[in-house]
Amino acid sequence: MKSDARVVVIGGGVVGASVLYHLTKAGWKDVLLLERGELTCGSTWHAAGGMHTLNGDPNVARLQQYTINLYKELERISGQSCGLHMPGGIMLAGTRERFDWLKMAQARGRYLGMDLELISADEAARVFPIIDKRHFVGALLDPIEGHVDPYGVTHAYAKAAQIGGAQVVRHTRVMDLKARPDGSWDVITDAGNVHAEHVVNAGGLWAREVGRMVGLELPILAMQHQYLITEDLPALKGQKELLTCIDFEGEIYTRQERGGVLLGTYERAGVPWSPLQTPWDFTHSLLPEDLERIAPSLEVGFQHFPALAQAGVRKVVNGPFTFAPDGNPLVGPVPGLTNFWVACGVMAGFSQGGGVGLALSQWMVEGDPGADVWAMDVARYGDWVSLAYTNAKVRENYSRRFRIRFPNEELSAARPLRTTPVYERLQAGHAVFGEYCGLEHALWFAPSAAQATEEITFHRSNAHPHVAAECQAVREAVGLLEISNYGKFEVTGPGVEEWLSYVMANRVPKVGRIALTPMLNERGKLIGDFTLCRLAAQRVFLICTYAAQEYYRRWFERHAPPPGVTVRPCAMEYVGLSVAGPRSRALLQSLTREDLSSAAFPFLSFRALDVGMIPALVGRISFTGDLGYEIWVTSEYQRALYDLLMGAGAEQGLKLFGGRALNTLRIEKSFGTWAREYRPIYGPYEAGLGRFVDLKKGEFVGRAAALEERDSGGALRLVTFSVDASDADASGDEPVWHDGKVVGWVTSGAYGHSVRQSLALGYIPAALARETSGFEIEIIGERRKALRQPAAVFDPDGSRMRA
Ligand SMILES: Cc1cc2nc3c(=O)[nH]c(=O)nc-3n(C[C@H](O)[C@H](O)[C@H](O)COP(=O)(O)OP(=O)(O)OC[C@H]3O[C@@H](n4cnc5c(N)ncnc54)[C@H](O)[C@@H]3O)c2cc1C
Repeated sequence: MKSDARVVVIGGGVVGASVLYHLTKAGWKDVLLLERGELTCGSTWHAAGGMHTLNGDPNVARLQQYTINLYKELERISGQSCGLHMPGGIMLAGTRERFDWLKMAQARGRYLGMDLELISADEAARVFPIIDKRHFVGALLDPIEGHVDPYGVTHAYAKAAQIGGAQVVRHTRVMDLKARPDGSWDVITDAGNVHAEHVVNAGGLWAREVGRMVGLELPILAMQHQYLITEDLPALKGQKELLTCIDFEGEIYTRQERGGVLLGTYERAGVPWSPLQTPWDFTHSLLPEDLERIAPSLEVGFQHFPALAQAGVRKVVNGPFTFAPDGNPLVGPVPGLTNFWVACGVMAGFSQGGGVGLALSQWMVEGDPGADVWAMDVARYGDWVSLAYTNAKVRENYSRRFRIRFPNEELSAARPLRTTPVYERLQAGHAVFGEYCGLEHALWFAPSAAQATEEITFHRSNAHPHVAAECQAVREAVGLLEISNYGKFEVTGPGVEEWLSYVMANRVPKVGRIALTPMLNERGKLIGDFTLCRLAAQRVFLICTYAAQEYYRRWFERHAPPPGVTVRPCAMEYVGLSVAGPRSRALLQSLTREDLSSAAFPFLSFRALDVGMIPALVGRISFTGDLGYEIWVTSEYQRALYDLLMGAGAEQGLKLFGGRALNTLRIEKSFGTWAREYRPIYGPYEAGLGRFVDLKKGEFVGRAAALEERDSGGALRLVTFSVDASDADASGDEPVWHDGKVVGWVTSGAYGHSVRQSLALGYIPAALARETSGFEIEIIGERRKALRQPAAVFDPDGSRMRA
């Protein structure tokens, strides 16, 4: 084993091997993979090898497409067979709702270039003869599905990497990792030490333990997972290979295995494996079978697939593999550490391994993953994630693997965990809560406790009229919203202005003022949208998306401020309440001696002032697009502030409103938000944020690319549509059609209560951005007429918020 390497990849499962191959492909040859046993000896060797392209996140779906298309290339380079079988796949719907879900999946597939076909139950039985069609409503066919041989794939990656210059060393366990002051690592193994510039944790079942070597508690947990293989079925003899299949109602997946069928299940009562510590002596091992546990799924499965009930069981496999709380991988550089990367929590290594390897290698070599990997970025979790939280969420996610997640559905595991001081007050106001980063926040308010639950549906829910009333209060009187669930940083010290001006695209505001600004990467793409609130010459308060706070922290480490400037995350230190609506000024004015007239405290002002007895930071800004104020206090004051505002608000017609109303109100104003309209695949001019990019102020990250985008106009345009929808609105990821072709996609949608129209925001090609008609948006399988709006549908000239 060599004693120095540019990169040490820890782990020779399918993921580590893919990372190694992709590093060599990206041009880094001095790379070394260390594996404590044989390649595949963790969770990889006993996988069922199934692969498919569908994923809830379109960007992850793209990486899955990449993975599946890679296998032929791998075979060619390595000479190693991947055991590729591509019979295509079928997804069976047993209910109308599931069929609606399949329609939506097909629609989403359209703008990903996927060729998915909806078929009837009769047709399903024709192409997939082992089902009893009486149990099904219809199905979706995907030609790009199949399965591979886990051993073959992993060895193909490793061989291709070795051909590219990499080294693979087996039977060598990494025992510890020590950081050197220059950011490089001493990798301590049971066969000697290696000095590495970078370390990649691809430890799979042991990724958690490898993380602990550097003080990390990665949010991953292994679950036991079982599949069985039947004896040969006479019906399959001499036939074309069976399609791979997902039966959602049975929570079952199947594929052909030689002359029999492999049947696996994500049972509801899933069981974690080694929740605290993965044993190091677990090598090429399996767990005792427990068919009893999956009996309820098998029972349904045998009704749906009668031929399987007749067949004997040839083999049962029970093996563990790891999941993150949301089921997506954990990939990327870890905030707070230098040159330490992770590629773990990959629960679908044969669909995702290639994409994970590609993204991580580009990130390491080019400094950027080259794709929108937000959904699998390790930085989406913060230090609020504990071992027990992970355990609860992973179990929930596992049990729901084949269940529908409705657009208005909130999951119940690990709740309530984080609450703000006004939680009980909001509860008393009959709030229906949602969870965000473990934090409870009000979605909407019901008229009574008995009505404070929401039916989950693809259509408008029972919340609709109540959200309408909340919107009306904001547009006509005044509403109160809790806004604690934002990310916050406090930046202080001499040089604040210079540094912020370099990392942000807009100019830093003057003292007492607010500026909205995109943050760009070097490619000029959007990696954040911030509100900069300047309290003093050397003190700026940054408000941003809470879920991305770690992601931003990592960026601020990369573009570190000069000595003397401190960047301090302070999300939960400052909690907030916002009042918005035409009477919000009168309400707040009644509680402070400060002059809040527009002349004295104009739009985009920010100041420390007392509200009653409460010291607060107040900004004149509101995401509702109406006259409004955001009031930030340290948490011990929040209850008093709430009581004060509620007491004084009665006279002004104050009403509580929640996240659902806020979403509607911001869409009426065509205001975008992170992870929906603003993502690293869009540029600021494409996203309509060009007015917040100050190209004259001097150098800043992404300036050259932004300049280019301004001059070329960019390829895409974010636009607003009013949609001819009836009882279901767009919610995101629906395709946008124009003249019979899919040209774009929806990023957000809602019913605009104050403008009485169904609305959607989405991206279309810039060349079409002048067209107003000819558009359609596909909602639950129906193409609805959509009219592109030239500007925001509510108060397009912004006079309300400036009033
Ligand atoms: C029953 C079952 C069925 C499955 N079916 C499918 C399927 O159909 N399709 C699909 O895509 N996925 C399937 N999976 C999931 C799939 O197995 C995983 O996605 C995949 O194996 C993850 O690979 P990995 O490389 O991350 O982890 P692992 O395979 O666990 O690899 C990690 C490697 O790191 C090594 N290692 C760890 N720590 C150290 C250390 N300190 N020093 C040196 N080496 C170390 C380990 O020995 C191990 O070889 C299935 C899993 C199971 C259990």
